[in-house]
Amino acid sequence: MPKTYDLKSVEKKWQDKWENDKTFRFDNTSDRPIFSIDNPPRYASGGLHIGHATHYTHIDMIGRYRRLMGYNVFLPLCFDVNGMPIEVNVEKKYKVSPQNIPRSEFNALCSEFANKNIATMITQFKELGCSFDPSIYYQTDAEYYRRITQISFLKMLEKDMVYKGMHPVNWCTRCVTALGDAEIEYADRDTMLNFVKFHVEGNNIDETKEIKQDHKGHYVIVATTRPELLPTCQVVAVNPKDPRYASLVGKTLTTPIFKRKVRVISDEGVKTDYGTGIVMICSIGDKDDLEMIYKHDLDFEKAIDEEGKMTEMCALYEGMKTIEARAKIVQDLQDKDLLVKRETLPQSVGTCWRCHTPVEFLVKDQWFVKVMPYKKKIKEAAARLNWYPAWMKVRLDQWIDSLSWDWVISRQRYFATPIPVWECQECNKIVPATIDQCYVDPLNDDPPVAYCPECGGKLVGSKEVFDTWMDSSISALYNSFWCRDDAMFEKLYPMTVRTQAHDIIRTWAFYSLLRTVLLTGDEPWGDIFIDGHILAPDGRSMHASWGNTIDPLEILEEYGSDPMRYFSASRGLGEDSAFSWKEITHSQRFINKIYNIGRFLENADAKGEVTMIDRWIASELALTIEKVEDAVNKYQFSVALKEAERFIWHVFADNYLEMIKYRFYNDTLPSAFVKGLYASALKLIAPILAHVTEEVYSQLIGDGSIHTSEWPHSEHDEEALRKGRLAKDIVSEIRRWKSNAGLPLNKELDSVVIYTDEDLGELKNDIEGAMNIGEVTISSGQPDVEEVIISATPNFALIGPTFGKDTKKVAILLEDPKVAARLIEEGAIEEKGYTLKKEYISKVERAFEQKGKKVELIEHPQFIIEING
Ligand SMILES: [Zn+2]
Ligand SMILES: [Zn+2]
Repeated sequence: MPKTYDLKSVEKKWQDKWENDKTFRFDNTSDRPIFSIDNPPRYASGGLHIGHATHYTHIDMIGRYRRLMGYNVFLPLCFDVNGMPIEVNVEKKYKVSPQNIPRSEFNALCSEFANKNIATMITQFKELGCSFDPSIYYQTDAEYYRRITQISFLKMLEKDMVYKGMHPVNWCTRCVTALGDAEIEYADRDTMLNFVKFHVEGNNIDETKEIKQDHKGHYVIVATTRPELLPTCQVVAVNPKDPRYASLVGKTLTTPIFKRKVRVISDEGVKTDYGTGIVMICSIGDKDDLEMIYKHDLDFEKAIDEEGKMTEMCALYEGMKTIEARAKIVQDLQDKDLLVKRETLPQSVGTCWRCHTPVEFLVKDQWFVKVMPYKKKIKEAAARLNWYPAWMKVRLDQWIDSLSWDWVISRQRYFATPIPVWECQECNKIVPATIDQCYVDPLNDDPPVAYCPECGGKLVGSKEVFDTWMDSSISALYNSFWCRDDAMFEKLYPMTVRTQAHDIIRTWAFYSLLRTVLLTGDEPWGDIFIDGHILAPDGRSMHASWGNTIDPLEILEEYGSDPMRYFSASRGLGEDSAFSWKEITHSQRFINKIYNIGRFLENADAKGEVTMIDRWIASELALTIEKVEDAVNKYQFSVALKEAERFIWHVFADNYLEMIKYRFYNDTLPSAFVKGLYASALKLIAPILAHVTEEVYSQLIGDGSIHTSEWPHSEHDEEALRKGRLAKDIVSEIRRWKSNAGLPLNKELDSVVIYTDEDLGELKNDIEGAMNIGEVTISSGQPDVEEVIISATPNFALIGPTFGKDTKKVAILLEDPKVAARLIEEGAIEEKGYTLKKEYISKVERAFEQKGKKVELIEHPQFIIEING
């Protein structure tokens, strides 16, 4: 092995070899137990950032550990391709709009854009050492995948789990499409609260502080942030407990500008401290309005159209964008003396996750998956999963509790799976595709029947496409060959584990559970592993504008894959963690250590006997194997890493190798045994440091890949552990003693006696060899030594005042160890005419002597070491 580890060329060498040898493949014919991983299909809108790089290497470790532990691992290479983020990127990149070029052309651009990103990411996954299996590859925009999405929809349609209906949906007027609840991001921003006059109809009105009068008559003040919705104001509401407006309930008001007559109703939902305590209910400003509309059975009225323009019912504001209309209405209110004042109001606004345009509510004909009737069922399924970490489960529970609508799954977009239905132009009857027809594109393909079965009318293919979560939420079904191969489905479903980050619990985890439980009755996996996020080294989120982003490609370029993987493994399960350069540089030292141990052992070829000390290290390894297995079973790779590193570096290298070096030089090492043991230790960390372990393994063992080798056994021997640890501690103590005494560590010692009750006879040679000792004697007795005083320090604070000018003479007497010894023994003595007392000595130092010769003792709870010369 070369003297220095050439990480970059070695990593490249192995990545190429694994690819060429097809090292990491799911074996369909094997009878080994299956461990299947529902790997998140990486979204194809760009390359991998540092968060992806750590997340996917983390998932890769799950696969690699399980392969080593003897499982037939199913870990697909996969990409999520459908949907708006790709469309938005293509619109920007090619400066095209799907409204202006043919649909097929636009989709082709999306496909080309995504496939380029996929090619880049496949290279990046390879450079990260990810062992994703291309033989079970999928991408969600392929016809073979979209076919399964369509079938899953048709099956849900059959079971009445999806429906088409008029329903308010979140709507992005920029993207011109409906959005699911999970696609709404809330942003805090300031808005203006407008205080607007509503005049009261009729006479007999008592003027109060709140009911005032101007030249047009009595009026009240209504506060609103959305004056552009005035044309759809249907009622005005006050809280029944609000005494200010008790006399107003039941009366009629006239809306400003639009002069609509509206009732005043009372509703407990009205907040008395918002604005003036009177609110207008419009169709539909926000979720509160929506609840009122349902509760009081009001009409849905449409003031804003799909593109965010005011509709016909907004009279002279028709055709204006909402913001424009708002400004104009405010101006007109002011001109007509109908605006009392405006105040700034901080507000949390729901915005589109892609373009951050505030969402509107529109009543639209849309497809929905039923959620409301199944909330309890999904929570029960979630409770049956093993959550790693356990505390993540509550996030899903809370999300399910918060849902108040069904899931809108239709999108008025382009690059996604077509909804496989036709609609009758005459009577609106829906004619779904047959399952055999899928994959089907209703815009190009013929319906299963020529004419409407109800009225004989013409059938028109649906232009709508699915929300992209409709595709990715069936990844577990796709992976397990649902509706493709029944025998495989039987074998693969449910999958072993879903792996994902916490930001998509409310989407991917939730939709997957919902869909697969509804389609199969079973939850799709046994375990769910939730990863945290990567923050900038400064602990904040990474933002290009803050200049704190880290490009994983630069890390790969400068440090290589194993250091990146080491960082990935070092993070706590589920925790958001700051990127740490310290872990990267620390890992470099560890990687070099691993390599250098390999180099040292490379030249060992003696066929010595396995002794007690070898049995000890084998037992230490066995205990480490158990700890690593336990950590891997709990997906705690930071623990596995810590245990394996502690063993390799601090037990195997620092202690064991030091104790066997002499056998290496005198050719009594059982070389094959030691190499095999080191190879076993490397297996414990091979799934993390995939490259350096493979390199060292190939040099020492050379029998296939470490990654497809056998997981080491973990039997330990109590006697060897007890005795080996004692010998290790003895050697450490002697080493420390030499170091404290300023002696070189290889300084020869004549003889050492070790007093212990343990029979260390078999380890005598190792202690002698490790510490260069002429003769080690093991004794069960106590050392036969005499404790003598070797120096004493006078207490000047006492002798000064007592002896005055003689102080110095007395001090010299007291410093004599023999005098000090007698004095301490007798308490007071006469010496050279002075009366000396015990308290004249402040401190003594003692040592041990044996037959008048100085010896050193090291006392330890389990042994005493006597060092002679
Ligand atoms: Zn948008
Ligand atoms: Zn019809």
